Amino acid sequence: MLDEKERYLFKRKLDEIKSIKGQHTELISLYIPPDKMISDVMAQLRDEYSQSSNIKSKQTRKNVLSAIESIMSRLRYFKKPPPNGMVFFVGMVGEPPKLVAEIVEPPMPINIYLYRCDSQFFTEPLEQMLETKDIYGLLLIDRRECTIGFLIGNRIETAAYLTSRVPGKHGKGGQSQRRFERLTEIAAHEWFVKAGEKASQLFLEKKNLKGVLVGGPGPTKREFVNGNYLDYRIKDMIVGIYDTSYTDEYGLRELLNAASDDLEEVEVVKDRRLVQRFLNEVRKDSGLALYGEEEVRRALEAGAVDVVIISDALKKYKVKAKCKNCGYEMNGIMEKLEIECPECGASMDIVEKKDMIEEYAELAEQSSSEVAIVGRESEEGEILYKAFGGIAAILRYKMDF
Ligand SMILES: [Zn+2]
Repeated sequence: MLDEKERYLFKRKLDEIKSIKGQHTELISLYIPPDKMISDVMAQLRDEYSQSSNIKSKQTRKNVLSAIESIMSRLRYFKKPPPNGMVFFVGMVGEPPKLVAEIVEPPMPINIYLYRCDSQFFTEPLEQMLETKDIYGLLLIDRRECTIGFLIGNRIETAAYLTSRVPGKHGKGGQSQRRFERLTEIAAHEWFVKAGEKASQLFLEKKNLKGVLVGGPGPTKREFVNGNYLDYRIKDMIVGIYDTSYTDEYGLRELLNAASDDLEEVEVVKDRRLVQRFLNEVRKDSGLALYGEEEVRRALEAGAVDVVIISDALKKYKVKAKCKNCGYEMNGIMEKLEIECPECGASMDIVEKKDMIEEYAELAEQSSSEVAIVGRESEEGEILYKAFGGIAAILRYKMDF
């Protein structure tokens, strides 16, 4: 399995590759599984090469042929594929065309052999490797409403929202209290049947469901669960029943919070707790909480960091660039990779670039600090990004700056 940093870097790499667009059908994706003979791949590439010589458009033909040549020349260095196989993404991109050639060694073995030439790169099989398999069903219910959702990896998804016609606790004047109570119980039963059927259907349809969490205010949720309104297979999967004050979408987050002890290993819970720990240190003014790029870097270099917490929304690069026109060189932290020369205004070539998250993760590794890369799905993740600039640390000891 991938650790957080590898997972993050792999995802970002795929995002980059995916965002590249060719003018025509001229970008080549080549998936080579570990057991494939390189000589077989070469033979197919020669075949593709001769077929591509028939492409009508001169420019497209030239681009496709260059891409195939580039793959073949790189393949010569391999006696056999790496342990997990490899994927080539190669093509001429932009105007004037520039060769893009990425060789990706996937984190898990690939089991397809595939050659594809298209106007964009084909990344789906690699993206599938990133999908978290842990899925939980979420169900909130009281007598007024019911929300059904899923926790997928660390993403919360709402699947259905239902409202009931069960009357409130007190009857209108004139109606006998007993009659009112009886009607209310009938309406509640019908409501539970409806909610139970919908939830069972949605949960049973979901593959890889690992468990079900049930929540809501008051005793209704237990009445519902004990009353066997859920399919028995779903009932067997209930991890726990929890108190929440809301039964709408907002309550789904509350539910996860309440269930966090039972879901210790779920990523979103871990991330939230970590940010909460950081916020606690900030509140206590203990001197153990730190944030900001410069501050965290210094603490990392001093080996004082216990955990560094980085938002996955932090998009910054450490860049070395050189002007195409006047040769001016610069180093700096950039948010974009299109840079204008400060001397002459021409566009600059990126000589080197490094993702800031990768940079921090490496610094952390050197001082055996823990790294957590936190998404913006949770409220805490949002706070980390918005209020603390996306980078924070909890220190092992107080530092004097
Ligand atoms: Zn210049």
